[in-house]
Amino acid sequence: MKKFDFVIVGGGCAGLSLAYELEINYRLKNKTLAIIESRKEYKRDKTWSFWKVFDHNFDDCVIKSWNNFSINTSENSHKLTNKKFPYQSVDSGKFYNKIKSKLSANSNISFYKNLKEINSENSIIFNSVFEKEIDKSKLWQHFQGIEIETPEKIFDEEIINLMDFNCDQRKEVHFFYTLPFSKNKALVETTWLSDLEDQSLMDYDRQLENYIKNNLGIKNYKINFTEKGAIPLFYPSLKNKNGKVINIGSAGGMTRLSTGYTFLNIQEHSKYIVKNIDKIDEIKKFNLGKKYKFLDKVFLKVLRKHPDKMPKIFFNMFKTSSNTIIKFLSNKSNIIEDINIISKMPKFIFFKALFN
Ligand SMILES: Cc1cc2nc3c(=O)[nH]c(=O)nc-3n(C[C@H](O)[C@H](O)[C@H](O)COP(=O)(O)OP(=O)(O)OC[C@H]3O[C@@H](n4cnc5c(N)ncnc54)[C@H](O)[C@@H]3O)c2cc1C
Repeated sequence: MKKFDFVIVGGGCAGLSLAYELEINYRLKNKTLAIIESRKEYKRDKTWSFWKVFDHNFDDCVIKSWNNFSINTSENSHKLTNKKFPYQSVDSGKFYNKIKSKLSANSNISFYKNLKEINSENSIIFNSVFEKEIDKSKLWQHFQGIEIETPEKIFDEEIINLMDFNCDQRKEVHFFYTLPFSKNKALVETTWLSDLEDQSLMDYDRQLENYIKNNLGIKNYKINFTEKGAIPLFYPSLKNKNGKVINIGSAGGMTRLSTGYTFLNIQEHSKYIVKNIDKIDEIKKFNLGKKYKFLDKVFLKVLRKHPDKMPKIFFNMFKTSSNTIIKFLSNKSNIIEDINIISKMPKFIFFKALFN
């Protein structure tokens, strides 16, 4: 069986981002890489959105960027503008095509369906696959989004609606998310923060239909694309067989637990790995920062205990400067900005969660 210097298990967002970063930094000129990916074909399956707080390799895969965003509850609406850090949406189909086409030019890179097809005994292994089913009783962000197209020009394409809590909460945390790609095309998503055991929350089609009709006032539209997902808002434990494995992507703890944002963290992790590839065994494990781990833990404790209070808590969190909230949610805030955000939280229930 063929031996490889590097093996990437899972050729999704993290696996391909890392392979691309290795390739563009000429790290695969004299080294071999096997990518183990089980999917039959690559096609658009996700829309990755985030605030661009630093440069990444995929500007040419961006569907659209925005400088304005809003959040609303049934009572209030708040709009923020930021010119420094645009909110971007990456088309996963374009992302896969770009990377596959770049990698195909290097004969040192091979794709396999199963790890058993190669000899990985002495390889450096990067893993982005969860080995077993993840606990459904814990907290998840689960959602379904549809890209709709309307005959008339009805969307304001300059502003996204990040969270619209003006909807049925069903004793959990529920909001809609709308990204207008143009005046007649938008991604509309229904998002829940809850466990995955309650199937009754998963009538996503009906939720989207009602929201589009009753909240957005759109009667006539066609659906171009559907995406569905569930992101664990906890770090599932992984038992790697040997110490040589470096976990990446969601499996590598790259998800910000209070938001589900992962894409840009994956890009930062890939850059970190490639920069340190020659001493990968010795370097400190990359993480999103202890402070965010701690703050998110307290925040999610409150969320589980008081789902009814969350629309107001999220809303108040955004009542700060756009720079502060964007940097906080993108793990780039300083201590002053952290204090500013923390000061927006209801003191009593957060203190209780902290000492519980
Ligand atoms: C629908 C959806 C929308 C999202 N939107 C956003 C967003 O807007 N912003 C954001 O920051 N984050 C978003 N996320 C979260 C996160 O960015 C994505 O989940 C991202 O794809 C995580 O990258 P990954 O490489 O860890 O996992 P994946 O991209 O899922 O890659 C894992 C790969 O492993 C393969 N695989 C699985 N099992 C095996 C096996 N046994 N052997 C070989 N291969 C295997 C899979 O086919 C897959 O290609 C979204 C997630 C989903 C599901």
